[in-house]
Amino acid sequence: MPEVFKNYIGGQWVEASTGKTFENRNPANWEEVIGIFQKSGKEDVDKAVAAAKSAFNKWRLVPPPERGKILRRVGDLMVARKEELAQLMTREMGKVINETRGDVQEGIDTAYYAEGESRRLFAPAAPSELPNKWAFTARLPLGIAGIICPWNFPMAIPTWKIFPALVSGNTVVFKPASDTPATGHRLVEILEEAGIPKGVVNLVHGGGSSVGIPIVEHPDINVISFTGSSKIGKEIAAKAGESLKRVSLELGGKNAQFVMNDANLDLALEGVLWGAYGTTGQRCTATSRLILHKDIHDKFIEMLLERVKKLRLGNGLDPNSEVGPCVNKSQQQIVDEYVQIGKAEGAQLICGGAIPEDPELAQGWFYKPTVFSGVTRNMRIFKEEIFGPVLSIIKVNSFEDGLETLNDSVYGLSSSLYTQDVNLAFRAVRDFQAGITYINGPTIGAECHFPFGGVKETGNGHREGGWTVYDVFTEWKTVYVDFSGKLQRAQIDNY
Ligand code: NAD
Ligand code: MN
Repeated sequence: MPEVFKNYIGGQWVEASTGKTFENRNPANWEEVIGIFQKSGKEDVDKAVAAAKSAFNKWRLVPPPERGKILRRVGDLMVARKEELAQLMTREMGKVINETRGDVQEGIDTAYYAEGESRRLFAPAAPSELPNKWAFTARLPLGIAGIICPWNFPMAIPTWKIFPALVSGNTVVFKPASDTPATGHRLVEILEEAGIPKGVVNLVHGGGSSVGIPIVEHPDINVISFTGSSKIGKEIAAKAGESLKRVSLELGGKNAQFVMNDANLDLALEGVLWGAYGTTGQRCTATSRLILHKDIHDKFIEMLLERVKKLRLGNGLDPNSEVGPCVNKSQQQIVDEYVQIGKAEGAQLICGGAIPEDPELAQGWFYKPTVFSGVTRNMRIFKEEIFGPVLSIIKVNSFEDGLETLNDSVYGLSSSLYTQDVNLAFRAVRDFQAGITYINGPTIGAECHFPFGGVKETGNGHREGGWTVYDVFTEWKTVYVDFSGKLQRAQIDNY
């Protein structure tokens, strides 16, 4: 019998008020059920918010370094369970075991970073314009944070949001993606074991409309941190706008790697293979467009095809597998639809473009690593996020042409330039319209202590990661202390 996973509300493991459940299955072998999860509804969200609200009054008064100590214990527990968590994650969402280990490691790094930040939470002070008066600022929690996560980084993304929310003194209502509820569930168990007080973290399993929307609409939730598609992000921003609720959005991408004619092509090849096919292309930072200078275009494609054809598809728990399945059937179908669109638009399908026929893969949502060449800027496969193992190649005549091509996107998350020319490298740093630019590295590979996020429709101006995410989860208080013993009027008595 598969394990039944409950919600966690006010420090109790409880069933959903709906009495309904859903199954979580392995995308590499759909006959394997990972577990049975609560299919919660608005009533469960209401209970979780009530628990978070009553816990907030105590939690906000706990000194931040004390909160940080709990997160250090969370990090230690994740270190001890890293392999178990990685295996569970591979079983529930498919990416290969090396990558799920990396996903857990990012959570560990984020926990220890959060402990460090708990002794900083720096807030500037500055001199007052009046004598015998001081002025400074402080960061205070907002209240309750609603945390809504996608399935592609089932550990890293929840930790990016939950840990800074907690260090800042907020309480949390967390909804993992319904494709990856088990990893999020284990994270909450670890928080409980590490000593997080009852009600400070609440877990509500379920879908976007039944749990996500009630979180966004709840009047007692003060801030929403959402990672997911731009379409849902826009809906959330519109809803939250009605009550002026703070919203931090990390959304889609259509990231490009640009290879100049002076680049180290072997290095650029390793970069694009990892960037385009890591996590089966299901990363917000995945390399989805490859921009090649005309001088190296044909040669680079030849080098690329030789390697892409050899990529080994398979169950991510098998150490020989290099590319896992798509997360579910509908994602596999979306990928195939985009392949048909690309063909109809006149791009050349030069590799992959089909569901593999290998009987060993027949029980999973696999798709062959795919390459299109001859792509042009008007094509949908150039413009739209596919979120699968599909790479679109476009040829350009010069650095300027490549720059304009790279920037021709509604998205602006990650970007990459391969060149040996330091002048071009710095032009890319300045001129690529993206939140992240890599020089001689692929579009993927963020580090937890730096800001993460994008421009244009990739987000709404907030950043996760590093010190910047603490801006999302804190409210500024400005404090003036006048010890002159008399009324001093700013802008009047000193002029
Ligand atoms: P999604 O937008 O379908 O769902 C994300 C989460 O929102 C899920 O938990 C879902 O249940 C919930 N949800 C769905 N509808 C909702 C609604 N109306 N109100 C509230 N919540 C709702 O995205 P996904 O398929 O899980 O993830 C893939 C997308 O996420 C891609 O577009 C990818 O680029 C993006 N992503 C972005 C980043 C980033 O940091 N920029 C990172 C990872 C993934
Ligand atoms: Mn699953």
